[in-house]
Amino acid sequence: MFSANHNEFWMIWTDIAPVCLFLALFIVHVTSLQFAMQPPFYQCLVIGVFLGTIVSRICSSVYHVFNCVSLRANQTLIGVDMLGICCMAFGSPWGFANANNISDPRDAAFIAYVVILSFSFASCAVAILTQSRMRQPLLVVLAVIGNVPAQNLTAAMGFAVGYAVFYRGRFPECFLPPGATDGKIYNSHVLWHILASLSQLGYVMKTFETSARQMRDVHQ
Ligand SMILES: [Zn+2]
Repeated sequence: MFSANHNEFWMIWTDIAPVCLFLALFIVHVTSLQFAMQPPFYQCLVIGVFLGTIVSRICSSVYHVFNCVSLRANQTLIGVDMLGICCMAFGSPWGFANANNISDPRDAAFIAYVVILSFSFASCAVAILTQSRMRQPLLVVLAVIGNVPAQNLTAAMGFAVGYAVFYRGRFPECFLPPGATDGKIYNSHVLWHILASLSQLGYVMKTFETSARQMRDVHQ
């Protein structure tokens, strides 16, 4: 894992580095005065965005570290990786758009939101763990829900382009002899990690901005 000769070296570290960065940003944000003054529903959403992002990257690094152990480990861990990606749907745009109107955790809307979210998460978990054919399209839908928080179009575009070009399109391997990019930083999967991290960064940074706006609205 610490040897740059290892095939997955860059894949592992392009997961661990973002986890550290997002954890640091998470701590900075939730301990800020600005955050403390927000309504509880809004606070839940922000925590959801950060946890979703962080969990998805932890799951992904677990996958990359242990997937070579055995075929069975590999298949189980792909599921774990995908579940992590599901977590990103927690910060949905609907929630943010309504954060101002929902201020009490006992509000019906608050409870409904949590129920709907848990339900969709559970059904995705089932689809993934049973290796249903629907799981790839489902993940794309979830990623879109989580990432278009009408909040950051650039981040959403980054994801879409990264997914199409690097993850599915396997650029640049598609133009190179087999194995040419193994263990290299320009391997398509490593590039996908980097682009996804930048998009996630744009995504979590948006919560800082939204908090500031939210605070102005609340105190007007
Ligand atoms: Zn990966």
